[in-house]
Amino acid sequence: QEARNRGKTVLLLVPEIALTPQMVGQFEQRFPGDVAVMHSRLTPRQRYDCWESIRLGRQPIVIGARSAVFMPLADLGLIMIDEEQEESYQSDMSPRYQAATIARLRSRNEGAVLVLGSATPSLESYQRTEEGKSRMLSLQERPGTASLPETHIVDLRRDWNSDTDGLLSLELIQAMQEALARDEQVLLFLNRRGFASTCLCKDCGEAVQCPSCAIGMTYHLQRNQLVCHYCGLTQNVPEHCPSCGDEHVILYGAGTQKLESICERLFPAVTIVRMDQDMTSGAYGHAKLLKRFREAGAAILIGTQMIAKGHDFPRLTVSAVLSADQMLGRNDIRAAEKAFQLMTQTAGRAGRQELAGKVYIQAFNVDHYALQSAAAQDYPAFVEQELNFRRVLRYPPFSVMATIGISSEREEDCRQIAAHLYEKLSSMTGLPEWQGVEVLQPARSALYKLQGRWRWQMLLRAGKDGGVRKLSTLWQSVSLLRVPQGLRLSFILDPA
Ligand SMILES: [Zn+2]
Ligand SMILES: [Zn+2]
Repeated sequence: QEARNRGKTVLLLVPEIALTPQMVGQFEQRFPGDVAVMHSRLTPRQRYDCWESIRLGRQPIVIGARSAVFMPLADLGLIMIDEEQEESYQSDMSPRYQAATIARLRSRNEGAVLVLGSATPSLESYQRTEEGKSRMLSLQERPGTASLPETHIVDLRRDWNSDTDGLLSLELIQAMQEALARDEQVLLFLNRRGFASTCLCKDCGEAVQCPSCAIGMTYHLQRNQLVCHYCGLTQNVPEHCPSCGDEHVILYGAGTQKLESICERLFPAVTIVRMDQDMTSGAYGHAKLLKRFREAGAAILIGTQMIAKGHDFPRLTVSAVLSADQMLGRNDIRAAEKAFQLMTQTAGRAGRQELAGKVYIQAFNVDHYALQSAAAQDYPAFVEQELNFRRVLRYPPFSVMATIGISSEREEDCRQIAAHLYEKLSSMTGLPEWQGVEVLQPARSALYKLQGRWRWQMLLRAGKDGGVRKLSTLWQSVSLLRVPQGLRLSFILDPA
């Protein structure tokens, strides 16, 4: 309102328009006729009209997903990014960009204020406040409810329920029965991206980690091996736990479909809604499923990360993270951060209004700091430990990383070019002017073959000072190389 009073324009970025109908409605009510909404269902013609009307200043407020950051608003006074930690602000196709970075540049060049909103700010944003580049403003009250939900951590090493393949512990089943009998609703969150299993120790709960990168490794079914996609290390599934020496190293992972059939068996009279990538084709696929769930009485909502976000279900009183290990053990330097965010969001779904909520977090690795601090809704405790980990291992926000992607329909071309690039970049970065730049061994991508193309990747890392410039310059020299026909190279700065 203040920006508008001063005759300035306003840009609001949201992760996905289809998921935020209430917010759009509130803006349209408050600023009638002033709001342009950019969403993916606009035809090219509508998109152009929208762009033109923004350029002419007819609509001084723009709400949209990441590409709206480029809208030609004159006299920009304020940019807001809601849920700034979301991966969807990173464009993973050409042109590749991070909307928050563009927003930061625009706000600096055009003298606008930039506000990032999040219940669980990204480590990058948090670190900027530590360095005095941004200011932290905290809302101390939890919106919509007076008290935190009651949180239970279920230790799967003790409470393994083989009747449900370990997916639903007896304690959780009982809480579900009680809630459903009162016509309340249950949310079950399972972060399973279909193909991946987690390799972990059933005794101490630790995921098997890459010894040099200190993060979980990805299990490749075809080769029955563990791979680290950061440094390229490949190894067999160990017979003994590297952490405690126990012999019970297991591969663990079940998907949402399996969970759905277990729920149907245990709760035959209850509405069950499954929401994941397979079930939500079309931009408004989610909305229909969510409506069905909201309008049902006793019901169970099953899903992957998309269900953990922002929705308000007044009768939802039990929410559960079924396998925290699947998130914590991922081959991703941000595994703990993403796990913390998702666990916190899932916990935040239960009991948002007058009904009291219960939250269950099931895991083998119950002592992990991300899990403990999510259960306590303690962001400062999490961030302190996680920043320490990143600092020690020289991960962002204490360095800049980039990925060079190599893909081709011919597997051999990929392998050869990956090796060639590695050799070339290693010899280049050995020179004094490239001091502080590291090139890691190329590795097969987590999805090794996608849409008929084989994929390799190589990581680059540089110190924070001038790192972006150095890595971009390296990429420019690489992108000029002659490569076999059909082979594609890509570059992602700060991969999510
Ligand atoms: Zn162990
Ligand atoms: Zn590694």
